[in-house]
This record gives sequence, C-alpha cells and structure tokens, in this order.
Amino acid sequence: MRQKIVAGNWKLNGTVAETRQLIRALRNRLAGSVTRAEVVVCPPFVSLEAAVEAARGSAIQVGAQNVFWEGTGAYTGEISAEMLEAIGVRRVLIGHSERRTVFGETDADVNRKLRRVLAGTLQPIVCVGETLEEREGGLTERVVRRQVAAALDGVSPEQTARIALAYEPVWAIGTGRTASPEMANDVHVLIRGLVAGILAGSSAGGLRILYGGSVKSENAASIMSQSDIDGVLVGGASLDPAGFADIVAAAR
Ligand code: PEP
Repeated sequence: MRQKIVAGNWKLNGTVAETRQLIRALRNRLAGSVTRAEVVVCPPFVSLEAAVEAARGSAIQVGAQNVFWEGTGAYTGEISAEMLEAIGVRRVLIGHSERRTVFGETDADVNRKLRRVLAGTLQPIVCVGETLEEREGGLTERVVRRQVAAALDGVSPEQTARIALAYEPVWAIGTGRTASPEMANDVHVLIRGLVAGILAGSSAGGLRILYGGSVKSENAASIMSQSDIDGVLVGGASLDPAGFADIVAAAR
C-alpha cells in the first residue's frame, strides 16, 4: 500500500506574512482530521524558512519549487540543495512544466538537478507531462517516456526509492481542464512500467506517482481512487486552506 502524497505548489504567490497565515490556517483545518496522506506545501524561496517555522510540530512538510545542480559558486540567482536542507526543507519539485516551458529547463537540466538532490537528503518530486499539441499529435507516450528516461539517467534503484514522480499534462495545468481519472491512470501505469524497465528487475511497485492538473476538492477523490494514482500535486487550489484540507481528506 503506497502512502499518498498531497502536495501544494504555491508558485509565485504569497509574501512571508501570507505564508505564515496560510500555514496556520491549514494547520487548523488539518488538526483533528485523520490525515492518511503526506502533506507538502511548496511556497516561494523567500518564504521557506518562515514556512518551516510555521509548520513545526505539525504533519505539514515544506518543499521548494526548484533547486540548482551546483552547491556553491558563480551562479547568480540560484539556490542549492544544501541551502534548502540547512533550513529544514524536506522536499523539492524538479522539472515542473512552468520551469520547462517558461524558463527553458531541459531534460538534461532535470537530470542534473535530480542527481544533485539525491546526493543529499531532500526528497524530490519530478514532474513530467505532455503539451496539448503533443497529446493531440499522439505523442504522449513518447514524450513521457523520454522525460522519465532522461530524468532517471544515472540514478540507482536505491535512489529511485526516494523519488516521487508527478504526471502533469501541461494542458491541464491552471486551465480548469483535467484529464479524466482513467486517462490519467493509463499514463501512470505506463510510467510505472517504464520505471520498472529502467530499474531492470527491481520493482517499481513502491514508486509514488502523483497526478497534477486542475485538481480541486470536487475531483480529488475520483482522481485518487485510481489504482496507480498515489496522490496529487495541486497548484491554484492549494492556496485555499479549506479546499486544500478537503483534498487532503480525499486521500485514502
Ligand atoms: C501545478 O502547478 O503543478 C498545477 C497542477 O497547477 P493547477 O492545479 O493550478 O493546475
């Protein structure tokens, strides 16, 4: 039985003060309810330390939205895995589609970041997914196969156990369009098979694969009821503590 992960990606939203407020509100909502899932929130970099402080003593884990593949040096504007670990961050998103499409992050960049993170203690959530054009062109499998294989290049089976993947069709992110639960599950099954193939004999049965793309409290339960969907990565709806708590409650 894979424990589900419900992760909120706050993107470019919230001051430090607003982050504290949001986490306080989420803590209140989650207190008293039975939380079966791991709960993660990913605020912007400047709010991470305040988020760790505000979440201390609760089940809420704090994750970063991005990381760089070097530890120190002349890389203006970048943040290292070691810096994140030092302030108590537990998880990190790698290769989110907005990083890929808006900031030109490549499959090779995703791989460098992942390998660097795996040398430390952070637990990565690696995002993959096809664009609308790719889906309509029948390229979903090919794109996802390429992204997963490139991300995991040089990663050992033992390290893979620390990774969660997130399947996020780009056309469903922030658009209100969601993949149907069955459609998403088909891709999750494909990804699990791909990873099993890459691990050559080791099982991918424990690998957690989240779905992301316009998840909200209304559709979370049906999405997470699918056999190979092990949680959700939530953007817009994670900024509302009540709605996000309902999504957490929908994880069984
Ligand atoms: C995301 O940012 O990963 C995401 C899925 O966004 P949204 O839920 O807003 O579609």
